[in-house]
Amino acid sequence: MTKALLLIDIQNGFCPGGNLAVADGDAVVPVANALIDSGRYDLVVASQDWHPPGHGSFASQHPGRHPFEIGELSGKPQMLWPDHCVQGTNDAALHPDLHLAGIDFVQRKGENPAVDSYSAFRDNDRAALTGLGAYMVSKGVTELDLGGLATDYCVKFSALDAVDMLPGAEIRFVADMSRGIDPSGVELAIAQMRAAGIEVVTSQDILS
Ligand SMILES: [Zn+2]
Repeated sequence: MTKALLLIDIQNGFCPGGNLAVADGDAVVPVANALIDSGRYDLVVASQDWHPPGHGSFASQHPGRHPFEIGELSGKPQMLWPDHCVQGTNDAALHPDLHLAGIDFVQRKGENPAVDSYSAFRDNDRAALTGLGAYMVSKGVTELDLGGLATDYCVKFSALDAVDMLPGAEIRFVADMSRGIDPSGVELAIAQMRAAGIEVVTSQDILS
């Protein structure tokens, strides 16, 4: 029995003041810290969006296109984002208030300029694995609580991949440790996670 906590992309870039700020994104930090510090997890992992400059998901790389339009990347539809979480910049750093000492492992993603990687487990083309699935299997993860930024993108895809990659494990989405970009997208994400057998909980459910 290994209980794991997965913190998705709790980075400056996705918090107010960041290049791809999610409304109220920094509100997840104290919730994450309460869970990190709770002592109930055997393993705490954080994912980190970590793009090279000029990543193909950036609208700036598509002449005439704007952020939050659907464009194309490597022949597939791609949401075009503002430049964000560029390797080595403050925008890409994990939020400074996050209790980093309690994090056992950081999984970086989005390093291939030709494909985006919402999930902490694999790229959006579903071809390249990050290695996080095998790592969690090697640690014998049987329970995984996850959340972070943003619910309708990186959290959702990580949660759905976790179901695939950790067969038999109990996966829970921690709603108050998560914030989304688009309210209707968040609703859909929660419905999709529920349909995949993921339980929706709050940090209070976990800590009480
Ligand atoms: Zn990104």
